[in-house]
Amino acid sequence: MADTLAIGNYSDEDQKALQEKSAVFIGSTDDLDGLEPGQREAIRAVAFKGHKPFGPAQMDLLPNLGLIANYGVGYDAIDIDAASARGVKVTNTPDVLNDDVADLAVAMLIMQGREMRQASEWARSGQWKDKGEYRLNRKVSGGVAGIVGLGRIGRDIADRLAAFKMEIHYFARSEKETPGWTYHADPVSLAKAVDYLVVALVGGPDTEKFVSKEVIEALGPRGIIVNISRGTTIDEAAMLDALEQGKIAGAALDVFLNEPDIDARFYDLDNVVIQPHQGSGTVETRAAMGQLQRDNVTAFLAGKDLLTPVN
Ligand code: NAP
Repeated sequence: MADTLAIGNYSDEDQKALQEKSAVFIGSTDDLDGLEPGQREAIRAVAFKGHKPFGPAQMDLLPNLGLIANYGVGYDAIDIDAASARGVKVTNTPDVLNDDVADLAVAMLIMQGREMRQASEWARSGQWKDKGEYRLNRKVSGGVAGIVGLGRIGRDIADRLAAFKMEIHYFARSEKETPGWTYHADPVSLAKAVDYLVVALVGGPDTEKFVSKEVIEALGPRGIIVNISRGTTIDEAAMLDALEQGKIAGAALDVFLNEPDIDARFYDLDNVVIQPHQGSGTVETRAAMGQLQRDNVTAFLAGKDLLTPVN
């Protein structure tokens, strides 16, 4: 009987590679109890993709589970404490996606700052022809950027923004070795100092609403928020209020609460760039993520060291 269970929707290539490992497939953790008890007992490794919770109740349905290999660097859907308590190892796919996520963050920042969506609409709708030039917008290069969470992705974003001659400020739990960049131990102080606030924190309960109403309001009326982390890291209702009331200039967001059924208030806002959680969504990076996920499964089943362990 199969010892590997693949949860989630995989690309054709990933699916083929997992089939070569004789994996059993289900769509989400909700489908676990549809498996026969014997099938569940045989499972030692799960290749997990998705954002539905993988908590104690789901783990207990797989009594011989030893590994959850997450597809993605963010593993906030998995209850790590519950996994550790059961002796279940968790792995993720760090680093291979940094470039794509950082590229998207910078692209969204410029897209919002330079009003590229609205300007494109101006041309497409014939207003350029009928009414003339699009209105002037704001210079992005040389601005002041604040990164909330200077981890792997945050650092790649900061490096890119530095190449745009931006002054770099950041928050992390500890100061990093980054000559010329300004550390803030307090996110409110960071927000006060910058025009662009780029959120690159981990998700999960510890960072819930870390970008609070106070942080958002400290950013001020020229402020633009960029979020590529998770919807949970920002007080989304407070951000929507601030966007509607002009307390901040705009937002560029790849992640939301309740994706994909996001708050309809976003759709009425002209000062928001919306991306459908596609930060790592390139063919190349998704292939690398799938490979790293499977390499962790292979290592685990062979009794070898895991490549990218979380716990
Ligand atoms: P990382 O290297 O672990 O960096 C995470 C950052 O979060 C670090 O700066 C860390 O601070 C900070 N942090 C962690 N726990 C915290 C806490 N309790 N309070 C305050 N700050 C905390 O992670 P990464 O690889 O850069 O990935 C970051 C996140 O991006 C992922 O977890 C994922 O949710 C998201 N992501 C999104 C996409 C997308 O498609 N949009 C794709 C990939 C990843 P320290 O430096 O002090 O440790």
